[in-house]
Amino acid sequence: MSNKTEKWFVSRQSYWGEESPYAVEIAYGGLDYANPDMLCTKYHGEGEEYTDPREAATTAVEIAQAWRKDCPDKDITVRVGFTHGFTMPFDEDTDEAAIAWGEKKYELLPKCPHCGEVMEERWTRALCDDEDACCSENCANMYFEEQDDDDQSDTDEIERNLDLE
Ligand SMILES: [Zn+2]
Repeated sequence: MSNKTEKWFVSRQSYWGEESPYAVEIAYGGLDYANPDMLCTKYHGEGEEYTDPREAATTAVEIAQAWRKDCPDKDITVRVGFTHGFTMPFDEDTDEAAIAWGEKKYELLPKCPHCGEVMEERWTRALCDDEDACCSENCANMYFEEQDDDDQSDTDEIERNLDLE
């Protein structure tokens, strides 16, 4: 398990050369992987990275709704995708499909065995990085104490696994 934390970047785009170019884009991989025709930030939550895909999806839909209200003549869609580092307009999606995408993605993310949150960091016991990891030092301390339930747990050292850096 050496996966980096997944992140998504929400931005408004005006895709060059597209018939209906206006989109709220959810780009996998964060800011560096957003398409380059990004519009300047105007709505709450845009231009930000999200580690929870449900939050990214909900925010993107809210932005699209606010934008449609401001510009009723524009055809605005929500789109999810991965540019692979290139410029690549994403396929159109409905608001509902974007929300469903967020829920599904979230289900697949690794969760902390102690608190159930999405893992943004990985904390394990020193020298045992093949076992379960937790999302924080606190969770790891409590989790591994529960696992051991006796003697040797005080000698265990919790450390942050740098895979996620
Ligand atoms: Zn936790």
